[in-house]
Amino acid sequence: MCPGHVSGTKMRGDMRLRDSTIIDYLRGNADDRLFAMADSLTRQVHGSEVFLRAIIEFSNVCDKHCHYCGLRAPNQDVSRYRLSPEAILQAAEAAALMGAGTIVLQSGDDISYTAATIGGLIREIKQRHPVAVTLSLGDRDLGDYAFWRRCGADRCLLKLESTDAFLYKRLRQGEYFAARLHRLEALRALGYEVGSGVIAGLPGTTLLHALRDIHFLTQLNLDMLAVGPFVPHPQTPMRDAAPGSVGLSQRITALLRLLNPHANIPATSALDALRPGSRGQALRRGCNVLMPSLTPEEHRKDYSIYPGKNDQGLDIAGSLALAVDTIIEHSLLPSNARGDAKRRPHAHQSATRSAPGHHPHGPSQCGQVLAD
Ligand code: SAH
Ligand code: SF4
Repeated sequence: MCPGHVSGTKMRGDMRLRDSTIIDYLRGNADDRLFAMADSLTRQVHGSEVFLRAIIEFSNVCDKHCHYCGLRAPNQDVSRYRLSPEAILQAAEAAALMGAGTIVLQSGDDISYTAATIGGLIREIKQRHPVAVTLSLGDRDLGDYAFWRRCGADRCLLKLESTDAFLYKRLRQGEYFAARLHRLEALRALGYEVGSGVIAGLPGTTLLHALRDIHFLTQLNLDMLAVGPFVPHPQTPMRDAAPGSVGLSQRITALLRLLNPHANIPATSALDALRPGSRGQALRRGCNVLMPSLTPEEHRKDYSIYPGKNDQGLDIAGSLALAVDTIIEHSLLPSNARGDAKRRPHAHQSATRSAPGHHPHGPSQCGQVLAD
């Protein structure tokens, strides 16, 4: 569907957002209004609480070749590390004792951690601490994910990165968008809370891509939505590409909030990498989650997905304290609750859910370029 047509996507209540309105907002023509609406809806549905999710980046080894990411396998200039299971449990314990209600286990796509090892970690963490466990481990086998669910894992994050299947294939060096989408849907069928999202402002994308990302993600009826701007990494093939913009990323997020009132939406660290302070600002622009890195200090800077990630030079207590301060600075309340998904009173997307490559906002139906 092209801008100017009335979109079928419904906001909470009776309001609808036209594609032309979304495009106007994406252009930044009414930022004050958009961000105020997103903040007001966030507070209405989620209150003043901001959930703290401690992220433990336990391995920066990756067998993938994503063109945008500093951890890609061919990058020989990154000092690779793998935390031992004991070190991961220690980090989880520290995070839980410091008040995180969710532990996010994230890594490169590193299959050296067997299903049994990860499963053992999940069981231990869940037995020892009253936390939710989120997995962000990439394209692992669905059989492994099924096993980890039985071990007690609660949630999975698997970003689609871009909902343009051609771009996805190019930027993820031959991987298939349909496979990623299938995995995401299968994770939901396994009983996980599921989250996804995109990288905003990838080179070659336009506002029409953003429009389609917004519709596509909304139609998936996700529990969590995460959008961060593209940050070029000097040791990748995209080193010379223009960075994404903080404004566009925040606008996409705010629009997703309007269309997904009940989703948990983090203020992502990539915002701060491009413009310090913009992650905190996003807490007043539709976000209700903050995910400080509680990766052990000696490895944190090597989890260099993009420059500026994890380089504040803080220890884990300092990293959590900074997150708490950021929340308070924006007159919000840090929360150590698990922050489980709020179920929607009316799931409005099921009738319009689309098959990959056939959704109504695809380039095949609307190929014009509006703006860069
Ligand atoms: N390997 C797993 C999880 C770690 S990557 C996976 O790929 O799913 C975590 C996220 O970092 C990715 O989903 C991607 O959205 C983000 N990312 C990677 N490189 C980036 C870059 N250059 N700019 C912004 N975000 C990036
Ligand atoms: Fe690996 Fe994830 Fe980076 Fe891709 S985005 S190279 S899968 S860590």
